[in-house]
Amino acid sequence: MRILSGMRPTGRLHLGHLSVLENWLRLQEENECFFFVADWHAFTTEYENPGQIKDFTYEMVGDWLAVGIDPEKSVIFVQSQVPEHAELHLIFSMFTPLSWLERVPTYKDQVRKLAEQGKDITTYGFLGYPLLQAADILIYLAEGVPVGEDQLPHIELCREVARRFNHLYAPVFPEPQGILAEIKLVPGIDGQKMSKSYHNEIPLTAAAQELARLTNMMVTDPARIHKDDLGHPEVCTVYKYHALYNNEVAEIELSCRAGKIGCVACKKRLAQITEGVLGPVRERRAALTARKGYIEEVLHTGRAKAQLVAAATLEKVRAALNL
Ligand code: SF4
Repeated sequence: MRILSGMRPTGRLHLGHLSVLENWLRLQEENECFFFVADWHAFTTEYENPGQIKDFTYEMVGDWLAVGIDPEKSVIFVQSQVPEHAELHLIFSMFTPLSWLERVPTYKDQVRKLAEQGKDITTYGFLGYPLLQAADILIYLAEGVPVGEDQLPHIELCREVARRFNHLYAPVFPEPQGILAEIKLVPGIDGQKMSKSYHNEIPLTAAAQELARLTNMMVTDPARIHKDDLGHPEVCTVYKYHALYNNEVAEIELSCRAGKIGCVACKKRLAQITEGVLGPVRERRAALTARKGYIEEVLHTGRAKAQLVAAATLEKVRAALNL
């Protein structure tokens, strides 16, 4: 299967992103994968302050590579370096009814959420971003797109756009499928959703000491004052991490409920386990950083490979439109 997936450049990644990347790792073993940095999508919300997008791109791609996304197996590139996406988006915009975009459920939600943060995204570009996504996918004739459930309406829109093009002009595009993956929902150290903007994240490349410090700051069961107080793991963030990463979570649960383990020891154990997960990522990241120019090289090669496919699709599109 040809698979396409992207991420907006947000800089260094955190533990919450690891599960998404682990899914990419599985996909790259058996499919032809295109992974891209969605920097034009970042512009839709960061248009007033785009200065960091480029640096964030390099930082994020470095983390992809450190996790094991392999440029020998997958095509890794930056969206804005393949302008064919923009031409296809423009062509799609000519025949896509406005109502298709206005009814995408995330649209109004996002406009409202970002307005609360003082950002006005009632722009032409933001309304059209699911259509740009459709162009991102269809320019590679991708058949599968890994998504979360909230993104399924975007895939449906993409399929409708493909159908409409094929019906109006010529059968050029496949109708891609959304591939639902089980993604671990990792809470931030305060128990809320993990996010850079909440300052509650665990960086993917955190040093062992930093990992221990952040684990110590995690919110636990407030009813446990003394080491032998009976615990309620269901309200504890540390326990949620044990449930995600520790094979012996059942033992932690029993010991906590029986007051046989103290929170300090429980956190110490967790820090060792997460170090086992993140230590190798951090080491590979350091080795990559030492190879000057390597990330640029990967993106340069990826761009050439992506452009070859994108240009061939656009040629078919232009022929179908008699342009
Ligand atoms: S012992 Fe562990 S699971 Fe129980 S409240 Fe303390 S940190 Fe949480």
